[in-house]
Amino acid sequence: MTDKKEVPEVIRRLGEISGVGVVRTNEILEEVRANLARLNGCAGPHDFQPIDEGQRLSRKARCSKCAGEVRTSDWHWYERAMEHVRADIEQQIEALWADHKKWPLDDADDPAYGIIEGLKRAYQATGKSWEPKK
Ligand SMILES: [Zn+2]
Repeated sequence: MTDKKEVPEVIRRLGEISGVGVVRTNEILEEVRANLARLNGCAGPHDFQPIDEGQRLSRKARCSKCAGEVRTSDWHWYERAMEHVRADIEQQIEALWADHKKWPLDDADDPAYGIIEGLKRAYQATGKSWEPKK
């Protein structure tokens, strides 16, 4: 009988090739899994901030909500995707607005009112508040 857990061949070989050993390779994989679990479990939107602000170019960012960490390049693309989502929502709101010719649309009996309120909430879920363009 042994108290050692069975080490998958790929982990054993990765530990050998990398030179960090099987134990450290397993620790690193556990850290990666835990980080992914934090990121995937985040209520969102992520609120990334640079981890190493003292550095001229920060390489990693941490979410203030879930403590998940990403490379700054991933953070950049996350923010770009959010900008695209906001632009799409703005287009939908403005199309509804163009049909109604009144603002603010505050008649709760108007079918468009509920749609616009839903779109505003979707916009806010991206981490910013929607404001009508002047
Ligand atoms: Zn997060």
